[in-house]
Amino acid sequence: MNKNSSIKCSVANCKYNVKTEGYCSLDVVKIGTHEANPTKCECTDCNSFVLDN
Ligand code: SF4
Repeated sequence: MNKNSSIKCSVANCKYNVKTEGYCSLDVVKIGTHEANPTKCECTDCNSFVLDN
């Protein structure tokens, strides 16, 4: 897996995470929200996440 130097990510449970370096390996990710009116960082999600098992 090659890291995308433009996308830092520490979500080690994701199958696209380059765990040793703390980056995402995808070319592009989709960010979204689970809130009707997001007001802080915790309201946002990476919708490209896939569980690494
Ligand atoms: S897909 Fe999202 S959660 Fe997964 S490594 Fe990339 S940025 Fe992180």
